[in-house]
Amino acid sequence: MAQKSIIEVSTKSKTDWIDITKAVQEQVESSGIKEGIAVVYVPHTTAGITINEHADPAVVADINDKLADLIPADRSYSHTEGNSDGHIKASLIGTSQTIFISNKELELGTWQGIFFCEFDGPRNRKVYVKVLGN
Ligand code: ZN
Repeated sequence: MAQKSIIEVSTKSKTDWIDITKAVQEQVESSGIKEGIAVVYVPHTTAGITINEHADPAVVADINDKLADLIPADRSYSHTEGNSDGHIKASLIGTSQTIFISNKELELGTWQGIFFCEFDGPRNRKVYVKVLGN
């Protein structure tokens, strides 16, 4: 069995991480799939998907501060659209995550959450969720 769905995300600033864990879990529940995997994917070139701590927002702030140090927006890049830092950050973070599903639940660790990572906002974005299993 497989179900594909889309989660709509509206980001509020240039860099904006949105916790989509509950929205993905809802897609798992609506799929009726008990055992399998969920693939969470962004069809964008300046956004990514990652899994990290969602209990303390300082963790996300630290990750974004370090990414900004490593990949400054204000240096010169070949790509003239002005969002090269966003493209590079998106490639480092990656476009998808795969999560096991066990007994209709995402198998995440206690402190783990799934984040949509905006690097060229604010924008309206889409996240594809494909749930596979039985
Ligand atoms: Zn660009």
